[in-house]
Amino acid sequence: MSEQIDYRAFRNEVEAFVQKNCPQDIRKLVADNRKLSREPWSRWQKILHQHGWGAPNWPKELGGTGWNPKQQAIYGEVLAENDCPAQYHHGLRHIGPVLIEFGSPGQKSRYLPGILDGSDWWCQGYSEPNAGSDLASLKTRGEVRGDTIIVNGQKTWTSHAQESDLMYTLVRTSEEARKQDGISLLIIPIKAQGITVRPIRTIDGWLHVNEVFLDNVEVPLSDCIGDVGSGWKYGKFLLARERLNSANTAPLFQYLSRTRYLIAEKLIQPKHRARRAALELRLLNVEAELRGIRELGLEAIEAVMSKTPITTQPSVLKLTSSRLYQTITEIGAEVVGPEFAARMPLQEGSAFDENEQATLWIQNYFFSRVRTIYGGSDEVQKNMVARELFGH
Ligand SMILES: Cc1cc2nc3c(=O)[nH]c(=O)nc-3n(C[C@H](O)[C@H](O)[C@H](O)COP(=O)(O)OP(=O)(O)OC[C@H]3O[C@@H](n4cnc5c(N)ncnc54)[C@H](O)[C@@H]3O)c2cc1C
Repeated sequence: MSEQIDYRAFRNEVEAFVQKNCPQDIRKLVADNRKLSREPWSRWQKILHQHGWGAPNWPKELGGTGWNPKQQAIYGEVLAENDCPAQYHHGLRHIGPVLIEFGSPGQKSRYLPGILDGSDWWCQGYSEPNAGSDLASLKTRGEVRGDTIIVNGQKTWTSHAQESDLMYTLVRTSEEARKQDGISLLIIPIKAQGITVRPIRTIDGWLHVNEVFLDNVEVPLSDCIGDVGSGWKYGKFLLARERLNSANTAPLFQYLSRTRYLIAEKLIQPKHRARRAALELRLLNVEAELRGIRELGLEAIEAVMSKTPITTQPSVLKLTSSRLYQTITEIGAEVVGPEFAARMPLQEGSAFDENEQATLWIQNYFFSRVRTIYGGSDEVQKNMVARELFGH
């Protein structure tokens, strides 16, 4: 099937579309290394959806493109090369595939359209103050009363909750001998009565993570995904998809070329020659590894699409791409100078001068620290790889 696709023509088609249709103001935000908020991201998603490209990773019958892994990779590359944002992941790549695989017909028809056209914004309520790496220790309770579940507890580090419509969340609906049992995956509107969202400012100055308190929140049983008490299985399925986000190496290649440009722009005097050569060598090593994980990413997406069991690939992809992203941003911060850290935090939409550009490099350096923490820390990924390879 895939042999018949003219990939060059496909690339040209995507390129022509994004160059014509991705709004200039959004491309400028991306080119300036700025963090995006909901508005530009949703606007871009709507444009892609109207063209039939809203969900490159979903099957055609559910509104996706039905593209093969190579087409998905080319699409990601063209978006990145043209400074268009990668699509917002919580709906499209996290809860969307779970709903497609395990959701009821009612859940699919209620929730998939809003993900596709960008009108519903989702966040992930997994972590709690005492349940991060050891997620199965979560304490938020869901008490089933008739056809309603009453939820009480606290989530933390909930990215984008402050601008979300919906949260998918794991709660404990019964106490079982094995702590992974008795957990359920629920969908809760973030504006539901009894929910309080409190922002946390992170080291990069960005206000995008939150504490979410749930006080007697009533959730209809119809918003429990799959069977009550089986949420761990769906939650793990989702986390494996989350790690696969690292298969899209295109934004890293783009970041790499921006860093090369920064070096060429800033380190121009003869006295910089040795430092410049050393930094360029580090970037060459990054590029070599990036090319390697690009291939691994294609294999992993292929395996997911053909329902072949995937084992260590998502963890290896996440481990490697996190380290490479951190190295690239370290080099960027080193070139502009750490003194710009004093200028944080930045306001969205503020003027963009040379100093601010430097501050944005520093901000991205700080932001990149999270890559080895969220979605399962590096240590946890290494444990998973070891268990898979050596059985313990
Ligand atoms: C910016 C940011 C955004 C986030 N967004 C979200 C979100 O949207 N939704 C959400 O649910 N969560 C989110 N998280 C939470 C994230 O998933 C957790 O922080 C992460 O899983 C680690 O959990 P913890 O913070 O409780 O650390 P802990 O689990 O307490 O770990 C502390 C340290 O111990 C190490 N460690 C723990 N267990 C082991 C072990 N068995 N072997 C070896 N080392 C171990 C860890 O690697 C880490 O270095 C976010 C976190 C951050 C920082």
